[in-house]
Amino acid sequence: MKKINIALLGASGSIGQNTLEVLRFHKDRFNLIAVSVHRNIKKLEEIIQEFKPRYAVITSEVNYSKKDIKILRGIDGLKEVAALPDVDTVVVATAGTVGVFPTINALRSGKRVALANKETLVSFGGIVKKIESESSGEIIPVDSEHSAIFQLFTRFEREEIQDIVLTASGGAFRNLSREDMKRVTMEDALKHPTWSMGKKITVDSATLMNKGLEVIEAYWLFSMDLEHIKVVIHPQSIVHGMLTLKDGAIVAHLSIPDMKIPIQYALTYPERIESPVKNLDLTEIKKLEFYEPDYNRFPLLKLAYDVLKDGGTMPAVMNASNEIAVYAFLDGKIGFLDIERVVFQTVEKHKIIYNPSLHDLLEADKWAREYANHLIQEISKEKN
Ligand code: NDP
Ligand code: MG
Repeated sequence: MKKINIALLGASGSIGQNTLEVLRFHKDRFNLIAVSVHRNIKKLEEIIQEFKPRYAVITSEVNYSKKDIKILRGIDGLKEVAALPDVDTVVVATAGTVGVFPTINALRSGKRVALANKETLVSFGGIVKKIESESSGEIIPVDSEHSAIFQLFTRFEREEIQDIVLTASGGAFRNLSREDMKRVTMEDALKHPTWSMGKKITVDSATLMNKGLEVIEAYWLFSMDLEHIKVVIHPQSIVHGMLTLKDGAIVAHLSIPDMKIPIQYALTYPERIESPVKNLDLTEIKKLEFYEPDYNRFPLLKLAYDVLKDGGTMPAVMNASNEIAVYAFLDGKIGFLDIERVVFQTVEKHKIIYNPSLHDLLEADKWAREYANHLIQEISKEKN
Protein backbone atom coordinates (compact mmCIF):
# COMPACT_ATOMS: atom_id res chain seq x y z
CA MET A 1 0.00 0.00 0.00
CA LYS A 2 1.30 3.44 -0.91
CA LYS A 3 1.72 5.62 2.13
CA ILE A 4 -0.20 8.91 2.27
CA ASN A 5 2.15 11.91 2.40
CA ILE A 6 1.01 14.57 4.83
CA ALA A 7 1.77 18.25 5.34
CA LEU A 8 0.59 19.28 8.82
CA LEU A 9 0.15 23.02 9.30
CA GLY A 10 -0.26 24.12 12.91
CA ALA A 11 1.52 20.98 14.14
CA SER A 12 2.16 22.35 17.64
CA GLY A 13 -1.50 23.12 18.37
CA SER A 14 -4.30 21.04 19.79
CA ILE A 15 -5.47 19.67 16.41
CA GLY A 16 -1.84 19.34 15.28
CA GLN A 17 -0.90 17.20 18.28
CA ASN A 18 -4.00 15.02 17.87
CA THR A 19 -3.07 14.55 14.21
CA LEU A 20 0.42 13.42 15.24
CA GLU A 21 -1.16 10.84 17.54
CA VAL A 22 -3.10 9.46 14.58
CA LEU A 23 0.09 9.33 12.48
CA ARG A 24 1.94 7.63 15.33
CA PHE A 25 -0.80 5.00 15.59
CA HIS A 26 -0.70 4.28 11.85
CA LYS A 27 3.02 4.50 11.05
CA ASP A 28 2.50 2.06 8.20
CA ARG A 29 0.00 4.35 6.45
CA PHE A 30 1.33 7.91 6.67
CA ASN A 31 4.53 9.87 6.05
CA LEU A 32 4.91 13.30 7.56
CA ILE A 33 6.60 15.37 4.86
CA ALA A 34 6.15 18.93 6.17
CA VAL A 35 5.02 20.72 9.32
CA SER A 36 4.44 24.30 10.45
CA VAL A 37 4.55 26.02 13.83
CA HIS A 38 4.22 29.67 14.70
CA ARG A 39 6.44 30.14 17.77
CA ASN A 40 6.74 26.80 19.49
CA ILE A 41 10.26 25.72 18.59
CA LYS A 42 10.38 23.17 21.40
CA LYS A 43 7.47 21.25 19.89
CA LEU A 44 9.01 21.62 16.44
CA GLU A 45 12.26 20.05 17.70
CA GLU A 46 10.34 17.10 19.17
CA ILE A 47 8.43 16.58 15.92
CA ILE A 48 11.59 16.71 13.79
CA GLN A 49 13.28 14.21 16.11
CA GLU A 50 10.37 11.76 15.97
CA PHE A 51 8.91 12.11 12.45
CA LYS A 52 11.85 13.48 10.43
CA PRO A 53 9.84 15.68 8.06
CA ARG A 54 11.75 17.20 5.14
CA TYR A 55 10.26 20.69 5.48
CA ALA A 56 9.39 22.91 8.43
CA VAL A 57 7.64 26.25 8.14
CA ILE A 58 7.92 28.88 10.86
CA THR A 59 5.32 31.63 10.56
CA SER A 60 6.61 33.97 13.30
CA GLU A 61 9.92 35.85 13.43
CA VAL A 62 11.63 33.50 15.91
CA ASN A 63 15.19 32.47 15.11
CA TYR A 64 15.76 28.89 14.15
CA SER A 65 18.08 26.91 11.95
CA LYS A 66 18.71 23.21 11.58
CA LYS A 67 20.65 20.85 9.34
CA ASP A 68 19.02 18.19 7.18
CA ILE A 69 15.66 19.90 6.98
CA LYS A 70 14.50 22.72 4.77
CA ILE A 71 13.26 25.64 6.86
CA LEU A 72 10.74 27.93 5.18
CA ARG A 73 9.19 31.12 6.50
CA GLY A 74 5.84 32.84 6.74
CA ILE A 75 2.77 32.57 4.56
CA ASP A 76 4.93 31.89 1.51
CA GLY A 77 6.33 28.87 3.33
CA LEU A 78 2.83 27.58 4.12
CA LYS A 79 1.81 28.04 0.48
CA GLU A 80 4.93 26.27 -0.76
CA VAL A 81 4.55 23.14 1.36
CA ALA A 82 0.81 22.97 0.60
CA ALA A 83 1.67 22.56 -3.09
CA LEU A 84 4.69 20.21 -2.88
CA PRO A 85 4.36 17.58 -5.63
CA ASP A 86 4.75 14.62 -3.28
CA VAL A 87 2.26 15.85 -0.67
CA ASP A 88 -1.15 14.12 -0.91
CA THR A 89 -3.04 15.66 1.99
CA VAL A 90 -2.62 19.01 3.71
CA VAL A 91 -3.99 19.26 7.24
CA VAL A 92 -4.80 22.94 7.80
CA ALA A 93 -4.81 23.31 11.57
CA THR A 94 -3.22 26.72 12.01
CA ALA A 95 -5.09 29.27 14.06
CA GLY A 96 -6.36 32.38 12.28
CA THR A 97 -6.86 33.86 8.83
CA VAL A 98 -3.55 32.56 7.41
CA GLY A 99 -5.20 29.16 6.90
CA VAL A 100 -6.84 30.38 3.70
CA PHE A 101 -3.57 30.73 1.78
CA PRO A 102 -2.28 27.16 2.00
CA THR A 103 -5.86 25.90 1.55
CA ILE A 104 -6.20 27.70 -1.79
CA ASN A 105 -2.78 26.56 -2.95
CA ALA A 106 -3.40 22.96 -1.94
CA LEU A 107 -6.75 22.87 -3.76
CA ARG A 108 -5.26 24.38 -6.89
CA SER A 109 -2.53 21.73 -6.75
CA GLY A 110 -5.15 18.98 -6.59
CA LYS A 111 -4.58 17.98 -2.97
CA ARG A 112 -6.96 16.84 -0.31
CA VAL A 113 -7.34 19.49 2.38
CA ALA A 114 -8.24 18.11 5.79
CA LEU A 115 -9.66 21.39 7.03
CA ALA A 116 -9.77 22.26 10.73
CA ASN A 117 -9.15 25.99 10.45
CA LYS A 118 -12.50 27.77 10.74
CA GLU A 119 -11.59 31.17 9.31
CA THR A 120 -10.99 29.64 5.89
CA LEU A 121 -14.67 28.90 5.32
CA VAL A 122 -16.24 31.46 7.66
CA SER A 123 -14.48 34.44 6.07
CA PHE A 124 -13.58 33.18 2.60
CA GLY A 125 -16.19 30.45 2.04
CA GLY A 126 -17.48 31.69 -1.33
CA ILE A 127 -14.03 32.00 -2.86
CA VAL A 128 -12.62 28.80 -1.41
CA LYS A 129 -15.61 26.70 -2.53
CA LYS A 130 -15.36 28.16 -6.03
CA ILE A 131 -11.68 27.24 -6.22
CA GLU A 132 -12.50 23.76 -4.93
CA SER A 133 -15.16 23.27 -7.62
CA GLU A 134 -12.76 24.39 -10.36
CA SER A 135 -9.85 22.22 -9.19
CA SER A 136 -9.22 18.54 -8.65
CA GLY A 137 -8.59 19.27 -4.96
CA GLU A 138 -11.14 18.51 -2.25
CA ILE A 139 -11.98 19.70 1.24
CA ILE A 140 -12.75 17.09 3.89
CA PRO A 141 -13.91 18.66 7.15
CA VAL A 142 -12.08 17.91 10.39
CA ASP A 143 -14.32 19.77 12.82
CA SER A 144 -16.25 17.05 14.66
CA GLU A 145 -19.74 18.34 13.79
CA HIS A 146 -18.95 18.76 10.12
CA SER A 147 -17.17 15.45 9.94
CA ALA A 148 -20.30 13.86 11.44
CA ILE A 149 -22.58 15.59 8.92
CA PHE A 150 -20.18 14.73 6.08
CA GLN A 151 -20.28 11.05 7.05
CA LEU A 152 -24.09 11.09 7.11
CA PHE A 153 -24.57 13.31 4.09
CA THR A 154 -22.76 10.97 1.71
CA ARG A 155 -25.22 8.18 2.62
CA PHE A 156 -28.38 9.94 1.39
CA GLU A 157 -29.72 11.60 -1.71
CA ARG A 158 -29.93 15.34 -1.45
CA GLU A 159 -33.73 15.32 -1.86
CA GLU A 160 -34.05 13.00 1.14
CA ILE A 161 -32.44 15.48 3.54
CA GLN A 162 -34.50 18.15 5.27
CA ASP A 163 -32.26 19.63 7.99
CA ILE A 164 -28.69 19.54 9.19
CA VAL A 165 -28.49 19.59 12.99
CA LEU A 166 -25.25 20.65 14.64
CA THR A 167 -24.86 19.88 18.33
CA ALA A 168 -23.22 22.25 20.84
CA SER A 169 -22.08 21.32 24.33
CA GLY A 170 -23.27 24.72 25.51
CA GLY A 171 -19.75 25.59 26.72
CA ALA A 172 -18.58 26.54 30.18
CA PHE A 173 -21.53 28.88 30.91
CA ARG A 174 -24.40 26.83 29.59
CA ASN A 175 -26.59 27.50 32.62
CA LEU A 176 -25.33 30.92 33.65
CA SER A 177 -27.52 34.05 33.69
CA ARG A 178 -26.39 37.20 31.87
CA GLU A 179 -25.88 38.79 35.29
CA ASP A 180 -23.47 36.03 36.33
CA MET A 181 -21.68 36.17 32.97
CA LYS A 182 -20.57 39.73 33.82
CA ARG A 183 -18.31 38.36 36.51
CA VAL A 184 -16.77 35.25 34.96
CA THR A 185 -12.98 35.01 34.65
CA MET A 186 -10.71 33.68 31.94
CA GLU A 187 -10.10 30.56 34.03
CA ASP A 188 -13.87 29.94 34.21
CA ALA A 189 -14.22 30.30 30.43
CA LEU A 190 -11.39 27.87 29.78
CA LYS A 191 -13.07 25.04 31.69
CA HIS A 192 -14.75 23.29 28.79
CA PRO A 193 -17.18 20.63 30.01
CA THR A 194 -16.42 17.96 27.38
CA TRP A 195 -13.73 18.84 24.81
CA SER A 196 -10.04 19.61 25.30
CA MET A 197 -9.06 22.26 22.72
CA GLY A 198 -6.98 25.40 22.11
CA LYS A 199 -7.80 28.48 24.24
CA LYS A 200 -9.42 30.60 21.53
CA ILE A 201 -11.93 27.97 20.48
CA THR A 202 -12.69 27.14 24.13
CA VAL A 203 -13.71 30.76 24.76
CA ASP A 204 -15.73 30.67 21.52
CA SER A 205 -17.55 27.64 22.91
CA ALA A 206 -18.44 29.60 26.04
CA THR A 207 -19.97 32.46 23.98
CA LEU A 208 -21.49 29.98 21.46
CA MET A 209 -19.66 31.96 18.75
CA ASN A 210 -17.99 28.66 17.92
CA LYS A 211 -21.35 27.18 16.96
CA GLY A 212 -22.15 30.31 14.98
CA LEU A 213 -18.90 29.89 13.04
CA GLU A 214 -19.83 26.24 12.49
CA VAL A 215 -23.25 27.18 11.09
CA ILE A 216 -21.44 29.31 8.49
CA GLU A 217 -18.95 26.51 7.75
CA ALA A 218 -21.85 24.06 7.31
CA TYR A 219 -23.55 26.44 4.90
CA TRP A 220 -20.51 26.41 2.63
CA LEU A 221 -19.60 22.76 3.05
CA PHE A 222 -23.05 21.33 2.38
CA SER A 223 -24.71 24.09 0.27
CA MET A 224 -27.72 23.96 2.55
CA ASP A 225 -30.18 26.85 2.96
CA LEU A 226 -29.61 28.61 6.25
CA GLU A 227 -33.09 27.86 7.62
CA HIS A 228 -32.25 24.15 7.28
CA ILE A 229 -29.12 24.39 9.43
CA LYS A 230 -30.18 23.95 13.04
CA VAL A 231 -28.34 23.98 16.35
CA VAL A 232 -29.25 22.03 19.48
CA ILE A 233 -27.55 22.11 22.85
CA HIS A 234 -26.36 18.65 23.81
CA PRO A 235 -24.30 18.81 27.02
CA GLN A 236 -22.80 15.30 26.73
CA SER A 237 -21.13 15.94 23.32
CA ILE A 238 -21.74 12.35 22.25
CA VAL A 239 -23.97 13.06 19.27
CA HIS A 240 -21.88 15.28 16.97
CA GLY A 241 -24.30 15.85 14.15
CA MET A 242 -27.68 14.70 12.82
CA LEU A 243 -29.71 14.81 9.66
CA THR A 244 -33.46 15.14 9.79
CA LEU A 245 -34.77 13.27 6.77
CA LYS A 246 -37.87 14.06 4.74
CA ASP A 247 -39.91 11.23 6.25
CA GLY A 248 -39.30 12.46 9.80
CA ALA A 249 -36.50 10.01 10.61
CA ILE A 250 -33.31 11.32 12.18
CA VAL A 251 -29.89 9.77 11.60
CA ALA A 252 -27.11 10.70 14.01
CA HIS A 253 -23.36 10.29 14.36
CA LEU A 254 -22.12 9.35 17.85
CA SER A 255 -18.69 8.81 19.37
CA ILE A 256 -16.78 9.81 22.47
CA PRO A 257 -15.64 13.44 22.10
CA ASP A 258 -12.12 13.00 20.75
CA MET A 259 -10.80 14.89 17.73
CA LYS A 260 -8.65 11.95 16.66
CA ILE A 261 -11.73 10.27 15.17
CA PRO A 262 -12.70 13.06 12.73
CA ILE A 263 -9.04 13.85 11.99
CA GLN A 264 -8.34 10.24 11.07
CA TYR A 265 -11.47 10.01 8.94
CA ALA A 266 -10.43 13.10 6.96
CA LEU A 267 -7.10 11.39 6.27
CA THR A 268 -8.38 7.92 5.36
CA TYR A 269 -11.77 8.76 3.74
CA PRO A 270 -13.46 6.90 2.06
CA GLU A 271 -11.79 4.13 4.04
CA ARG A 272 -12.63 3.63 7.72
CA ILE A 273 -10.02 1.90 9.86
CA GLU A 274 -9.24 1.21 13.51
CA SER A 275 -8.44 4.36 15.52
CA PRO A 276 -6.50 5.10 18.72
CA VAL A 277 -9.76 6.09 20.42
CA LYS A 278 -11.74 3.76 22.64
CA ASN A 279 -15.23 2.73 21.63
CA LEU A 280 -18.26 4.54 22.95
CA ASP A 281 -20.18 2.60 25.59
CA LEU A 282 -23.68 4.08 25.74
CA THR A 283 -24.49 2.11 28.87
CA GLU A 284 -21.77 4.14 30.61
CA ILE A 285 -23.13 7.47 29.28
CA LYS A 286 -26.72 6.47 30.15
CA LYS A 287 -28.44 9.68 29.12
CA LEU A 288 -28.30 12.03 26.17
CA GLU A 289 -30.01 15.43 26.55
CA PHE A 290 -31.01 18.01 23.95
CA TYR A 291 -32.14 21.61 24.47
CA GLU A 292 -33.13 24.58 22.38
CA PRO A 293 -30.27 27.18 22.30
CA ASP A 294 -31.00 30.43 24.15
CA TYR A 295 -30.30 33.22 21.67
CA ASN A 296 -30.94 35.88 24.33
CA ARG A 297 -28.19 34.67 26.61
CA PHE A 298 -25.91 33.82 23.66
CA PRO A 299 -26.56 36.52 21.03
CA LEU A 300 -23.39 35.75 19.04
CA LEU A 301 -24.99 32.53 17.80
CA LYS A 302 -27.89 34.52 16.36
CA LEU A 303 -25.48 37.09 14.93
CA ALA A 304 -23.75 34.38 12.89
CA TYR A 305 -27.02 33.61 11.10
CA ASP A 306 -27.61 37.32 10.52
CA VAL A 307 -24.16 38.10 9.08
CA LEU A 308 -24.41 35.14 6.75
CA LYS A 309 -27.73 36.50 5.47
CA ASP A 310 -26.07 39.91 5.05
CA GLY A 311 -23.36 38.15 3.06
CA GLY A 312 -20.39 39.83 1.36
CA THR A 313 -17.64 40.90 3.74
CA MET A 314 -19.84 40.65 6.86
CA PRO A 315 -18.92 37.14 8.07
CA ALA A 316 -15.21 37.99 7.72
CA VAL A 317 -15.75 41.12 9.82
CA MET A 318 -17.61 39.23 12.50
CA ASN A 319 -14.93 36.56 12.63
CA ALA A 320 -11.98 38.98 12.74
CA SER A 321 -13.49 41.22 15.43
CA ASN A 322 -14.35 38.16 17.48
CA GLU A 323 -10.80 36.85 17.25
CA ILE A 324 -9.38 40.19 18.47
CA ALA A 325 -11.95 40.39 21.27
CA VAL A 326 -11.31 36.83 22.45
CA TYR A 327 -7.55 37.40 22.64
CA ALA A 328 -8.17 40.69 24.52
CA PHE A 329 -10.32 38.73 26.98
CA LEU A 330 -7.58 36.10 27.32
CA ASP A 331 -5.09 38.94 27.97
CA GLY A 332 -7.31 40.25 30.76
CA LYS A 333 -8.01 43.52 28.90
CA ILE A 334 -11.80 43.15 28.64
CA GLY A 335 -14.54 41.18 30.37
CA PHE A 336 -16.40 38.19 29.00
CA LEU A 337 -19.50 40.11 27.88
CA ASP A 338 -17.29 42.76 26.26
CA ILE A 339 -16.43 40.15 23.61
CA GLU A 340 -19.92 40.33 22.14
CA ARG A 341 -20.02 44.10 22.63
CA VAL A 342 -16.87 44.50 20.48
CA VAL A 343 -18.19 42.12 17.83
CA PHE A 344 -21.64 43.72 17.58
CA GLN A 345 -20.23 47.24 17.42
CA THR A 346 -17.70 46.29 14.74
CA VAL A 347 -20.33 44.57 12.62
CA GLU A 348 -22.68 47.57 12.99
CA LYS A 349 -19.97 49.96 11.86
CA HIS A 350 -18.92 47.94 8.82
CA LYS A 351 -19.84 49.05 5.31
CA ILE A 352 -20.52 45.80 3.58
CA ILE A 353 -18.95 44.93 0.21
CA TYR A 354 -20.94 42.45 -1.88
CA ASN A 355 -19.29 39.83 -4.12
CA PRO A 356 -15.94 40.55 -2.51
CA SER A 357 -12.60 39.51 -4.00
CA LEU A 358 -9.99 37.82 -1.81
CA HIS A 359 -8.35 41.23 -1.52
CA ASP A 360 -11.63 42.85 -0.36
CA LEU A 361 -12.08 40.14 2.26
CA LEU A 362 -8.53 40.54 3.55
CA GLU A 363 -9.03 44.33 3.71
CA ALA A 364 -12.34 43.88 5.59
CA ASP A 365 -10.60 41.47 7.97
CA LYS A 366 -7.84 44.02 8.57
CA TRP A 367 -10.29 46.88 9.07
CA ALA A 368 -12.32 44.79 11.56
CA ARG A 369 -9.20 43.99 13.58
CA GLU A 370 -8.22 47.65 13.76
CA TYR A 371 -11.71 48.77 14.69
CA ALA A 372 -12.08 46.04 17.30
CA ASN A 373 -8.71 47.02 18.81
CA HIS A 374 -9.86 50.63 18.98
CA LEU A 375 -13.04 49.56 20.81
CA ILE A 376 -11.00 47.43 23.21
CA GLN A 377 -8.83 50.43 24.09
CA GLU A 378 -11.96 52.46 24.82
CA ILE A 379 -13.35 49.70 27.02
CA SER A 380 -10.04 49.36 28.90
CA LYS A 381 -10.04 53.15 29.54
CA GLU A 382 -13.62 52.94 30.85
CA LYS A 383 -12.53 50.22 33.27
CA ASN A 384 -9.51 52.13 34.72
P1 NDP B 1 -4.14 25.98 18.91
O1 NDP B 1 -4.11 27.37 19.41
O2 NDP B 1 -4.00 24.86 19.88
O3 NDP B 1 -2.99 25.79 17.80
C1 NDP B 1 -2.82 26.70 16.76
C2 NDP B 1 -1.70 26.27 15.84
O4 NDP B 1 -1.52 27.31 14.85
C3 NDP B 1 -0.35 26.12 16.53
O5 NDP B 1 0.43 25.20 15.81
C4 NDP B 1 0.23 27.52 16.41
O6 NDP B 1 1.66 27.53 16.47
C5 NDP B 1 -0.24 27.91 15.04
N1 NDP B 1 -0.41 29.36 14.90
C6 NDP B 1 -0.78 30.26 15.85
N2 NDP B 1 -0.82 31.51 15.34
C7 NDP B 1 -0.46 31.39 14.05
C8 NDP B 1 -0.28 32.33 12.98
N3 NDP B 1 -0.49 33.65 13.16
N4 NDP B 1 0.12 31.87 11.78
C9 NDP B 1 0.32 30.54 11.58
N5 NDP B 1 0.18 29.61 12.54
C10 NDP B 1 -0.22 30.03 13.76
O7 NDP B 1 -5.48 25.85 18.07
P2 NDP B 1 -6.38 24.56 17.79
O8 NDP B 1 -5.52 23.41 17.42
O9 NDP B 1 -7.37 24.43 18.87
O10 NDP B 1 -7.20 25.03 16.51
C11 NDP B 1 -6.63 25.17 15.21
C12 NDP B 1 -7.72 25.50 14.21
O11 NDP B 1 -8.63 24.41 14.16
C13 NDP B 1 -8.56 26.74 14.60
O12 NDP B 1 -8.95 27.42 13.45
C14 NDP B 1 -9.78 26.12 15.30
O13 NDP B 1 -10.92 26.93 15.21
C15 NDP B 1 -9.94 24.84 14.51
N6 NDP B 1 -10.60 23.75 15.25
C16 NDP B 1 -10.09 23.27 16.42
C17 NDP B 1 -10.72 22.24 17.11
C18 NDP B 1 -10.12 21.67 18.36
O14 NDP B 1 -10.63 20.67 18.87
N7 NDP B 1 -9.07 22.23 18.93
C19 NDP B 1 -11.97 21.66 16.62
C20 NDP B 1 -12.38 22.19 15.35
C21 NDP B 1 -11.73 23.19 14.70
P3 NDP B 1 2.45 27.80 17.89
O15 NDP B 1 2.04 26.67 18.79
O16 NDP B 1 3.88 27.71 17.49
O17 NDP B 1 2.02 29.14 18.37
MG1 MG C 1 -16.73 21.71 16.47
